[in-house]
Amino acid sequence: MVSHAHADHTGGFGYKGVKQSTRETRDIHHALRNHRISNFDPLKIKEKLIIDDSEILVLDAGHMLGSAQFLINTPNSSILYTGDINCTDTLTTKAAEPEHCDLLVMEATYGSPHYRFPPRETVYAEIVEWALQTIKTGRVPCLHVYAAGKAQEMIRLFNVYTRLPVIVNPRLDGVNEIHRNSGVDIEWFSATSNDGRTILDKDPCVYITTPSDRTHLGRRFSRAYATGWALSLGSSVTAFPLSSHADFGQLVSFVKACDPEQVYVFTGFAEEFRRAIKTRLGREAKLVPSYAQRTLVEDY
Ligand SMILES: [Zn+2]
Repeated sequence: MVSHAHADHTGGFGYKGVKQSTRETRDIHHALRNHRISNFDPLKIKEKLIIDDSEILVLDAGHMLGSAQFLINTPNSSILYTGDINCTDTLTTKAAEPEHCDLLVMEATYGSPHYRFPPRETVYAEIVEWALQTIKTGRVPCLHVYAAGKAQEMIRLFNVYTRLPVIVNPRLDGVNEIHRNSGVDIEWFSATSNDGRTILDKDPCVYITTPSDRTHLGRRFSRAYATGWALSLGSSVTAFPLSSHADFGQLVSFVKACDPEQVYVFTGFAEEFRRAIKTRLGREAKLVPSYAQRTLVEDY
């Protein structure tokens, strides 16, 4: 089972047996990596699967389109695996819901008290304000964000709060289409389309691209990032703390709400979060052997 389409969670698509995820996760994975998944069994959010004497409930993880948590109920205990979660509503996703469980296996990307994000509406307003100020100086505001999830939230942000046309790196087109086909209302112009080229040539607009793209496309760009890591990037880059992950406070609240007997923590500030759970909630937690997580300059 694959929880969502980010590259550090899609190793399961490489296995030979039956692969399971939501259709959105499979389709985004294919759009980003041109990897068609055979032997695939689609899952739906809120679907219940019965395997022998156990039941698996698929829950929304709130992290990106198609992202899922898995609640496994066995005759002896219940286990919740979160994948990556976001516990706040965004313009494109609904917050992850905690579920009571005996054993909680959860991410801790921002499991350090340093990472407390401002209200999302505040960050949205700051991004729009920066873009408008940038346009006033005759430059094109260029936002570098992950291609799947954050890019579509950013497009919708400018669609909802401004009348600025949004031009995107054509590498985002496939993932954008999947969002639109899944009911996420976004409007954009690909930079390689006739309209996109014309607008980018002379009109006020916003450009959305991947973290590592350094295209100039003939106009002067002012670049910014939108990522939770903005809180530790310093002042040498323009960055806004907009994350598709839960922040520290949300992670602590999530543990409380799930009320598990045992917690296993993986990725990010796992050790710091393990200690925080012990001191703040009086609960024992253990680390799951971690794996490399994406960095800011990786694109997917
Ligand atoms: Zn992710």
